[in-house]
Amino acid sequence: MGGKMVVFISGECGDSCYYCPVSEGRFGKDQAYVNELKVSDLYDFVHESYRMNALGAGITGGDPLLHLDRVVELITILKDEFGKSYHVHLYTTGRYATNDALSELAKAGLDEIRFHPTKIQYLSAIERALKFQMDVGIEIPAIPGEEEKISNLIKWAKEKGVKFVNINELELTERNFQNLNTKGLRVSHGLAGVSGSFQTSLMVLEKFSESEISLHYCSSVYKDVVETRTRFIRTLRVSGKPYEEISGEGTSVRMLVKTNQDLSELGERRGDSYIIHPSMLDSLPMNNVTEIWLIEQLPYGQKISEKLIYPKSKNS
Ligand code: SF4
Repeated sequence: MGGKMVVFISGECGDSCYYCPVSEGRFGKDQAYVNELKVSDLYDFVHESYRMNALGAGITGGDPLLHLDRVVELITILKDEFGKSYHVHLYTTGRYATNDALSELAKAGLDEIRFHPTKIQYLSAIERALKFQMDVGIEIPAIPGEEEKISNLIKWAKEKGVKFVNINELELTERNFQNLNTKGLRVSHGLAGVSGSFQTSLMVLEKFSESEISLHYCSSVYKDVVETRTRFIRTLRVSGKPYEEISGEGTSVRMLVKTNQDLSELGERRGDSYIIHPSMLDSLPMNNVTEIWLIEQLPYGQKISEKLIYPKSKNS
């Protein structure tokens, strides 16, 4: 969902999956986030969507349907503001997806619903959803050893006319690593993919390669790096300041120049310093400049690094 805004509507969930990747700080708490920012008002989502020039939104949690009214209101606001083509999808287990809930979501204009059926009895919710005007898909983690269970679910989905099944690489996070380790699951690569998860997906994908149902595999590397980076770059392109250089990683790089000269032609004043685009370094008048720092930060303001580049002798 690189071009989409990530709406974390609430951390509350009626399930407690041992592999749940939601962080300790978010899980179970009724606090909303948009991308990485805490929010308290539904219009904050509109603001952020403009800020990153989003093509749509993905609503996640917890289980968003625990806050159906909030979700319906948000979809209505987003569709009113950005029009029908603004694509909204929503994740749910299906536990709370009654006919009434699905009908309200469809009326509000939800384009796509993705089920993560944590229990077999939630499959009936998927069948109910298929009667409404929205795309219906399934999104599940690839748990090593569950190839047969996943295959049976795909077969079922195909028979019922479910549009797609997304299989995500199981992610090892700070919150779930103990549970996963207890089950013998370990991290397999530099970031957070669980060993064997990729192979599980591959086995399943190969089995269904001739099948009409649309199957996708999403690695945790792709999710973490590519999707997040794409979102950061979009945000900076739309809302970045002229003095920000956008790095390939989706971070903002700026130069902080400490001086008592007036450099307002070149950048923005901050106390006794100016924030200036890094490309201006060579053309900077150096008289009275005492320090120059190169600062790298995320689009939401968190500083990642700062490096003193002048005077060089102070540089570590
Ligand atoms: S349904 Fe999703 S949010 Fe809820 S416990 Fe399971 S993985 Fe976590």
